[in-house]
Amino acid sequence: MNHLHFQLNGTHGVLTFDREGSSANLFDRPALVELNDKLDALSAHPELTGLILRSAKPSIFIAGADLNVLSSLQGDELRDLIELGQATFQKLARLPYVTIAAIHGACVGGGCELALACDWRVASDASATKIGLPETNLGILPAWGGTTRLPRLIGLPAALSIILGGKVLAAGAAKAKGLVDAVVPRENLEAHALTFLGRGKRRPKSFFHLHNPLSVAIIGAKARASLRAKTRGLYPGPEAALDVALASCSGPLEEGFRREREAILKLAPRPETRQLLRLFFLQERAKKHRVVSAEPRKIDRCAVIGSGVMGAGIAYWLSTRGHDVILRDLDDDALARCMKSIAKNYDESRSRRIFTPTAAARGLDRIHPSAVAVPLDRCDLVIEAAVERLDIKQKVFAELSSRTRPDTILATNTSALPIHELTGVVRNPERLVGLHFFNPVHRMPLVEVVRTTTTSDATLATAVAFVRSLGKLPVVVRDSPGFLVNRILMPYLVEAAKIFERGGDPKVIDDAMLDFGMPMGPLRLLDEVGLDVSAHVARTLADAFPDRMGVPGLLAKLIEQGQLGRKSGAGFYTYNHNETAPNPAALALRTGSEPAPADVAAQLAHAMSEEARLCLDEGIAETADDIDLAMVLGTGYAPFRGGPLQNELKHPV
Ligand code: NAD
Repeated sequence: MNHLHFQLNGTHGVLTFDREGSSANLFDRPALVELNDKLDALSAHPELTGLILRSAKPSIFIAGADLNVLSSLQGDELRDLIELGQATFQKLARLPYVTIAAIHGACVGGGCELALACDWRVASDASATKIGLPETNLGILPAWGGTTRLPRLIGLPAALSIILGGKVLAAGAAKAKGLVDAVVPRENLEAHALTFLGRGKRRPKSFFHLHNPLSVAIIGAKARASLRAKTRGLYPGPEAALDVALASCSGPLEEGFRREREAILKLAPRPETRQLLRLFFLQERAKKHRVVSAEPRKIDRCAVIGSGVMGAGIAYWLSTRGHDVILRDLDDDALARCMKSIAKNYDESRSRRIFTPTAAARGLDRIHPSAVAVPLDRCDLVIEAAVERLDIKQKVFAELSSRTRPDTILATNTSALPIHELTGVVRNPERLVGLHFFNPVHRMPLVEVVRTTTTSDATLATAVAFVRSLGKLPVVVRDSPGFLVNRILMPYLVEAAKIFERGGDPKVIDDAMLDFGMPMGPLRLLDEVGLDVSAHVARTLADAFPDRMGVPGLLAKLIEQGQLGRKSGAGFYTYNHNETAPNPAALALRTGSEPAPADVAAQLAHAMSEEARLCLDEGIAETADDIDLAMVLGTGYAPFRGGPLQNELKHPV
C-alpha cells in the first residue's frame, strides 16, 4: 500500500500524504517506514530549497496513529513503533532545508507531532481543520516527540493546557497559541506555504521559563494542582504527560523522547487506558454502525413542539445544522423566553468563533416561532418536547397525526413515559419514534433513539442517520419506562437520597462518588436536574417496577416546601451565588442519624450496575457495549472504568 508521493516543483519538493484506499491518512508501521525511507532519500538532496508536506484527502491532513494497531501492541513491539515514529520525525526535523506543513483538515495526535517536527506550520481556515494532541484523553501521552517539542515551540503553560487537556483546536485558536504560524483560506494554502521557503530553518524560541528550574517548578506545581482537582488522581495519562513535559522542556531532545517512550510503555497496558481506548472505538462504531438495513430518508424541514428548556435546546441545535425549524408553543411568553435563550446561545457561539456573525444571524432566522397552529405538511420530522404528561402528549400527537404528511416522522423527547401509549392516537404509527436528547442539548453528545413495537425500519434508520447528521451519537433502545440512561441512573440517585434520609452527610455521599470518578455527586445532580423533575421520573419508574423502585419520602417533603434544587435556590444544598452548603431544611428532614456506610461508593455504583444488568437481560439495548457507552456519554459515568457493566466485572471500587 502506498501512503505518500513526492513531486519536485522547481527547487523545492512537495510530499503528499495519500493513504491508498482510505479516506484518512494514518500512521502505522508501513506508513512510517515509507516516510522514513523517503526522508532518507530526501536528506541526500541538500540542493533543495525546502519541502512542503500536504495531504490529498479532502478533510484530513493526518489523523494520527492507527489506534487499532497501537492498542494491539505491548512491550517490545510497542517500543519499536514508538522509536520508529520518533526517529522518523527527527529525520524530518534534521533535513538541511526548510520544512513546512500545509495543514488542511484534521491534524491530530501523530499528525500534529509530524507538523511539530517541521520548521513552520500554515493552516487553512476551514472548519475541518483541527490541530491538537488528544492522546491524554485515551490514557496515553504524545510520544512521537509531541510532549517534548510543544513546550519548546509555544512555552510550557500553553503546551500543558493542550497536552493535559487533550485539546484539539480550530485553526484560529491554534494560531493564537502559536501552534501554527499562519491561517489562510484553503485555496491560498499552498501558495502561502511557499512564502515560508524564504524564512529559512526556524531558530528555537527562547522562553525564559524553559531554562529556569524555579519557574518550571512553579508552573508544574500549578498545573499539577489543577490537574488533581479535575481528575482526582484517577487518570495516570495526563499525570505522566506532565512529568515528561516538565522534565523534557529543556536539555537534549533525545532525553525527552526516551522519557516519552518509557511513559507510554507503562501507560499502554493499564486498565484505565484499555477502557478509554475501548470507549473511543465504541464511539467510532456509534458513528457508523448500520442498525437496520433500511435506507435512511433525508430530513430537511423540522418542527419542535414545546419551547421550554428542551424545545429551546433542540431548536437551537437543529438550526445550527442548517435545518429550518417551526417552533410551536401555546404560550407567547414561553416562545419569547425561548427565542431569547436561543439568541444567547448564538451570541456565545459567535464570541467563541464557532460561528461568524452572518452564520449566527442566518441560524437564528431559520427558527420560526408560532403560538398558533401552522401548517406542518412541509415538515419531514416533528420533535415533541412539551410537558411530561401523557394526556398532554396524547393530545399533541393526535393533532400532529392529522396536521402532517403520512410519512412525516413523529418523535417524542419524553424522559421516561412509555411511547407505545401514543401509538393509539397516531395514524401510520410506523413513523413514531423516541428521540431522547439530554440537557443541555448543545453539550450532551448522546441521543437515545427509542424504537417502539410499531416503529418501522425506515423510520429507525432515518432517525439514527438524522442524529448522526447533527453530530450526536445515537444509541438505539427499546421502548420501556425510563429507556436506558434514566432507568439506570434513577436507582442510583434514589439510593443516594435514601442514604441521606437515614442520616448520611451529603458531602460524604457526593465526595465518595466524585472519588469514584463521576463528574458530580448524586445529591448535587438531583439538585441540578430539579427535585420535581427527578421525582416525576422516579414515580414513572416506580409505577413500572414497583418491586424495586420507589420515591424517597424526603423528596416529596422538599418539593412541598418549594425546595426544588438549584433552580429554586435550595434542595439538598443551598445555592448562594457561587457558594453551596448543605441545606439545613433538608438536613432537618432526615429521619435517622445513621452515617453513610464506609462503602457508600460501592453500594451506589452497584445500584447502577445491577440495573444495567437487568436492562441487558431485558434487551433494552442490544449489547453491553451500548449500555456502557450510553452511560458514559449520557451521565459522565467514570470513563476510565468503562461503564457500569465493566465496573461490575473488572473494577471493584
Ligand atoms: P418545560 O416545562 O421547560 O417546557 C414545556 C413547554 O411545552 C412549555 O413551554 C409549555 O408551554 C409547552 N407546552 C405545553 N403543552 C403544549 C402543547 N400542547 N403544545 C405546544 N406546547 C406546549 O419542559 P422541558 O424540561 O423542556 O421538557 C420537555 C420534554 O422533554 C418533557 O417530556 C421532558 O420529560 C423531556 N426532557 C426533559 C429534560 C430536562 O432535563 N428538562 C431532558 C430530557 C427530556
